[in-house]
Amino acid sequence: MRKIGLIGGMSWESSALYYSLINEGIKAELGGLHSARCVLSSVDFAEIEAMQAQGRWDESGELLAAEARGLQAAGADCVLLCTNTMHKVADQISEAIDIPLIHLADVAANAVRAAGLETVGLLGTRFTMEEDFYSDRLHTAGLTVLTPDAADRAEVDRVIYSELVLGEIREESRKAYQQIVERLVARGAEGIILGCTEIELLLRPADAPVPLFATTALHAQAAVDFALHQ
Ligand code: GLU
Repeated sequence: MRKIGLIGGMSWESSALYYSLINEGIKAELGGLHSARCVLSSVDFAEIEAMQAQGRWDESGELLAAEARGLQAAGADCVLLCTNTMHKVADQISEAIDIPLIHLADVAANAVRAAGLETVGLLGTRFTMEEDFYSDRLHTAGLTVLTPDAADRAEVDRVIYSELVLGEIREESRKAYQQIVERLVARGAEGIILGCTEIELLLRPADAPVPLFATTALHAQAAVDFALHQ
């Protein structure tokens, strides 16, 4: 079994989910007492969030690249960056290592394509929804990407940074997200990418009339596939 490297802490609420899902995936395939060979490097999210808010992306890229180098030195065979947003600096990270970075947008795009869908809604932080670094990757995979309107984007982003990354799951926010999903579906979304690793703690498959592509679960499964089959 190959060793999975994880850069986590962004937030630790979703990193905990990654750890559970990766171990469950290994157990599902190998059974018995099997568990994942993995190494987690967990950062202080307050530092990262301050860099995001102040536009210090290069600095955050250097910090995360150093974490990735540490994972490689610890024997990891691949690296997962356990946040969609910080894929804005994915190139800086992958250039710092000789092992593959399993890119979350590619994993999401493959899942949407495998489901036979072409037009997807994208929920995530304002960076993920409003900048090109994530949706460009989805476009390259042949997908049409719909994002919520400005007011809905602000609400999605607010719920992430003031509730979900703090582990707060609120019924009124679930309802707000459901309505935002419905508006995307009315505009033609055939599925929704939950492009923030905490959203699947709030929205469940039954909460939407179309398939939800939960990026933490998909990324964790991609890591399991890498560990066992590549
Ligand atoms: N975990 C989130 C994501 O997947 C947001 C936290 C962050 O800004 O990294 O984008």
